[in-house]
Amino acid sequence: MPTETSIKQNLEQARLRIAAAETQYNRSAGSTLLLAVSKTQPASAILAALEQQQFHFGENYLQEALDKIETLQQYPIVWHYIGAIQSNKTRPIAENFAWVHSVSSLKVAKRLSAQRPEKLPELNICLQFNVSDENSKSGATLAELSALANDIASLPRIKLRGLMAIPQKTETFEQQRAIFHTVQQAQQHLIESGHPLDTLSLGMSADLEAAIAEGSTMVRIGTAIFGPRKTAP
Ligand SMILES: *Cc1c(COP(=O)(O)O)cnc(C)c1O
Repeated sequence: MPTETSIKQNLEQARLRIAAAETQYNRSAGSTLLLAVSKTQPASAILAALEQQQFHFGENYLQEALDKIETLQQYPIVWHYIGAIQSNKTRPIAENFAWVHSVSSLKVAKRLSAQRPEKLPELNICLQFNVSDENSKSGATLAELSALANDIASLPRIKLRGLMAIPQKTETFEQQRAIFHTVQQAQQHLIESGHPLDTLSLGMSADLEAAIAEGSTMVRIGTAIFGPRKTAP
């Protein structure tokens, strides 16, 4: 299990990496939000990060996330759902998170829209773009993105903010950057066709620099903050 000290030091390191990449690639300082990915980590690890002014947390496994949200309900945490979505499990997602990064079907978007409670602000949505793994079912293809964005834009209670992608690992920095560039271009295309998008959810522990070079506004960092994970539940 990660210790409080290691989480503090790792967070400092991650923030330095982000700041250095912003400088190197001419991004404005502070334009990349750090999302701490706390899947498989205990609530105590989240508290240690919160102590260091880390407020945005990302979770992949719904039941595990709901348990932690309940345990930590007195804290000002912004919860992001970044995992696979089963369409019969959209209600607890709509009721408990501020952001969902992994929307890739109109069916799921419609359910989230209908199930988002009136008393909460609109649910922020990113469309997951299946940029490099043609065989995987997670994410929409480039061909599907435009229609999906158009259909989703008119739904109430959810707000389309941008794209998310989880590209396959590549050998070199330049290859990683080229894949991220494809995502950035798809985002640009949607913006030019009238969608007011402001979020590019790209980059993880190993490739955050390449993502920031290509315009990421939100990096999703797990192991670089909390250390290696035990296997998923
Ligand atoms: C686990 C996960 C991350 C974090 O990955 P690390 O390599 O540990 O930084 C980011 N995004 C998604 C969608 C994940 O599932």
